[in-house]
Amino acid sequence: MTKLVFKVHSRTRYQASKFPLHLRPEEDELLSSWLIRLALLHHTMPCTFTNLYLPETRNKLWSADIDLQATPSVLCALSDKSGLPVCKLHLLTLKSYEGYLFEEAFPKTKETPFVNRAGMRGRRCRLPAWRFCPMCLKEDATPYVRRKWRLSFSTACLKHRCFLLDRCPRCESPVTPYRRPQVGDFPNCDLCGSPLTEAEVEVIPQASYGLTAIKKIYEILDNGFLILKGIPVYSFLFFRIVHHLCKAAYFWDKKMGLIDHEIMQHQLRDLPWEQKVRELEDVRLKEQYLIFSGVMRLFDPYPDNFLGYCVQNGLGRTDLSKDLGIIPFWYSEMTDLFDLKYWRLSKEGSQKRDMLCDGRWHETRT
Ligand SMILES: [Zn+2]
Ligand SMILES: [Zn+2]
Repeated sequence: MTKLVFKVHSRTRYQASKFPLHLRPEEDELLSSWLIRLALLHHTMPCTFTNLYLPETRNKLWSADIDLQATPSVLCALSDKSGLPVCKLHLLTLKSYEGYLFEEAFPKTKETPFVNRAGMRGRRCRLPAWRFCPMCLKEDATPYVRRKWRLSFSTACLKHRCFLLDRCPRCESPVTPYRRPQVGDFPNCDLCGSPLTEAEVEVIPQASYGLTAIKKIYEILDNGFLILKGIPVYSFLFFRIVHHLCKAAYFWDKKMGLIDHEIMQHQLRDLPWEQKVRELEDVRLKEQYLIFSGVMRLFDPYPDNFLGYCVQNGLGRTDLSKDLGIIPFWYSEMTDLFDLKYWRLSKEGSQKRDMLCDGRWHETRT
């Protein structure tokens, strides 16, 4: 009886108290990464740590994708315990990309564009959602996981010019970092214990456009807008179309000429396009590298490359706009040009198509 009373008393004590130690999130750190490091700082497993201090989240917090699904009440509780402002904690979540990368984050990862799915089951990530650069982790004074590494276009590290990894280097399983993290070795594989810093990296030649594509994407994401044909476009409206074009390339097989510029296109020999998945976010990492290389190249220069690609692949207005719902204004200017009915029926339309095909489009517009 005394033991039980002590147990209840100590639980209440933890529930009512702040975290004894403080930990500042690192630059672009993921919420889960910070919380795991905080738990390890207290020499406690992450699950035990949150069960003690946040008993209301008991057995729920880590069974979801907390980087995407952390509720305002969880963030408020963490803020109260840690002393960090809620807005700072919000910036560690993938939801903070709302209004920049997508219009709205959905509770299910599946519905949130560009966020790699964790496929949580039995508190394990079934899918390779956690990516990492072993070199970055090795150089970190305190190794931590970056928020951007959860996004499908983050396929390479720009600093070290190498592909990111999305599986344990030893046992090749997707990693669930909060399970069995090791003090001093975090992040490590939860199954075989291997530190992720030990992995070999595959270097990418500087001339590969895929690296430029990632750099451009990050710049647009950080700025919140880009300029297309002299007009500012909100980044989330741009990324909506990027996502659509990636789908067209991969799922509708509209890839003619898409990666002709890419010196890493031989990567496809080992990863045939025929192996299909249902979501862009589930496509294998090196394929994603090539897809984003191809799609971002369509805007460099714009609209010439974009128009050429549409003509080459026979994309009509329907292909360019289906499933999109509301079409951003900047994009509707392009889709209208590919109204095949208009082309077929009018002389002006067929002339315009001829101009598109032989590259005179740009001259007529400038
Ligand atoms: Zn790196
Ligand atoms: Zn392993």
